[in-house]
Amino acid sequence: MKVLGIESSCDETGIAIYDTDKGLIADQLYSQVALHAEYGGVVPELASRDHIQKTTPLIKAALKESGLSFKDIDGIAYTRGPGLIGALMVGASIGRSLAWGLGIPAVGVHHMEGHLLAPMLDENQTIDFPFVALLVSGGHTMLVEVKAIGDYRIMGESLDDAVGEAFDKTAKMLGLGYPGGPVLAALAEKGEPGAYDFPRPMIRQGGLDFSYSGLKTFALTTWNSSTKTEQVKANISHAFQEAVVDTLFIKCKRALKDAEAKRLIIAGGVGANKRLREKLQELPADVFFPPMKYCTDNGAMIAYAGALRLQAGQTEPAEIQPKPRWSLEELNAI
Ligand code: ATP
Ligand code: MG
Ligand code: FE
Repeated sequence: MKVLGIESSCDETGIAIYDTDKGLIADQLYSQVALHAEYGGVVPELASRDHIQKTTPLIKAALKESGLSFKDIDGIAYTRGPGLIGALMVGASIGRSLAWGLGIPAVGVHHMEGHLLAPMLDENQTIDFPFVALLVSGGHTMLVEVKAIGDYRIMGESLDDAVGEAFDKTAKMLGLGYPGGPVLAALAEKGEPGAYDFPRPMIRQGGLDFSYSGLKTFALTTWNSSTKTEQVKANISHAFQEAVVDTLFIKCKRALKDAEAKRLIIAGGVGANKRLREKLQELPADVFFPPMKYCTDNGAMIAYAGALRLQAGQTEPAEIQPKPRWSLEELNAI
């Protein structure tokens, strides 16, 4: 079965084709980062307009890349939510209408299920159920118990900022530009270990929830009362990253124990963080990451998740109904 996947939930237009026999056979991505950079964050209306311009050309490019034509496609998967309503509307409208026109089934994929299954795009790793998933992205910080595809229990989540959001906001305060997460992470490598000691929020009380807005404020007050040199910036970046990685490590360890699981998968943009990857290897579990390029938003993860659902017989009526707010726990197991 060959499935065309469309991702348009935020500021990346991703189009990919997943073949259940051959694996990924096309993968096209356009990032709007430059478009939003001057505003220091994603401007929803600009995002929707840009998705409209990029989706059709990228679908054509994906067909060309795979050597296929529309008549070879067996199903369409598009991101139904969560995300920006206007941006979701573009992918959902194009995806659903295309499936209608071609007379093939369509399925609306949960964006976070796409992230969660992305480690399985690596053909060199087989991941058996059950496992615990740490989803760390620009909009989410979650620990999820996964018993099967679609059988998800949220064990803990952020009570305020998502991890990626905290990285981006802290980077912005330090004048590192947008999006700052990867820049801050690179600068952290030049920081002196121990120059600052940041708090580890939500550690002493039990439970698996997270809080990151306090760390961002701590970074700001530290910066404002410092000598504001480039080295201080690197030191703050280092201390911030250590605090984030430490709290994620501690909660992952707890979650694995609570769920009596032996496998942990990490997904989402912050999963690209080198220090996090390194630290989580110390856990008493088998730890899996997606390939680097499938950590942040992409069409491949949507085509893959959609292919699994279509293969299991899941389809939906010819209605265009994006879900900007949508919990993973509402999904059905396949
Ligand atoms: P969501 O998936 O929750 O809707 P999103 O799609 O915007 O949010 P992703 O594309 O998964 O999020 O990830 C983007 C986030 O990952 C940004 O906040 C970015 O700063 C962060 N990020 C990317 N690389 C790194 C890195 N190396 N270190 C830390 N953060 C990173
Ligand atoms: Mg993005
Ligand atoms: Fe995402």
